[in-house]
Amino acid sequence: MTEPPLIAGIELGGTKVICILARGPDAVEDRVTIPTTRPAETMAAIEAVLDGWSGFAALGIASFGPVSIDSRAADYGHITATPKPGWSGTDVAGRFARRYRVPAGFHTDVVGAALAEARWGAAAGLADVAYVTVGTGVGVGLIASGRPVDGLTHAELGHIRPVRYPHDDWIGACPFHGACLEGLASGRAIAARVGTPAPELPADHPVWEGVAHALGQLLHVLVLTGIPRRVVMGGGVMVGSAHLFPRIRTAMLASLGGYVGLPEVTMADTFVVPPALGGNAGPLGAVLLGAQALGKSSALTFTTG
Ligand code: ZN
Repeated sequence: MTEPPLIAGIELGGTKVICILARGPDAVEDRVTIPTTRPAETMAAIEAVLDGWSGFAALGIASFGPVSIDSRAADYGHITATPKPGWSGTDVAGRFARRYRVPAGFHTDVVGAALAEARWGAAAGLADVAYVTVGTGVGVGLIASGRPVDGLTHAELGHIRPVRYPHDDWIGACPFHGACLEGLASGRAIAARVGTPAPELPADHPVWEGVAHALGQLLHVLVLTGIPRRVVMGGGVMVGSAHLFPRIRTAMLASLGGYVGLPEVTMADTFVVPPALGGNAGPLGAVLLGAQALGKSSALTFTTG
């Protein structure tokens, strides 16, 4: 068996960047974390790391969004209109591809996490997977047949408008939509509503009923796309509140009302699951994006151990 290709993976997060040089999860040659600050400073710091590496055949970037993933668009590979100061319009993929002259894969951090969990984590062996992060915001990464579901742009399902929980008329926290899903169920929304960070709230706090109700409807929408065979739910709110999983499963099944009665869905304990890769999902997803750009992602199924 030939050795899997060596890939440089970059998870560009809102607060930190993780760069790894790897052939797979069991063959990580280097891993460096740097803070995300201003774009010029952060990009130069990433290049300082990659300049010290040699022999990588491709690179992949899994970035906070929104990003342009349309390869026919002039701004492909850029971060687009982000509230993060200074970052709107930053060219990420093009800059690295020109500097290192290797194929470069580029997508959102949630799509990267979906790819990694589908290859090596909680959805290992499944080609059709959704990854949902419920953290500061709510993001969804969709992959089908092992590849990101791409069209005009990436999914923005964190901003669907759920049917409101009975008698709840709180205005919500999304600056665009008020009480959209992110405006009701994100960590930022929960903290704005009750004045306490989500991980510090007890399981019997009344806010969770509405959060689970809203997230159950996201799961309803994901089932209706016909795509995921499993939904992996991570992010700070989910990781800190394991009691949410059974509540969200129940809310999803109640919302579906028996529609799409496939066993993959109705066996909700295995349909909606926590992640398995933890903080490695993002950087490993970036490695997979690089491998896909190289056309050799299947080679990474096997690692050198
Ligand atoms: Zn919104």
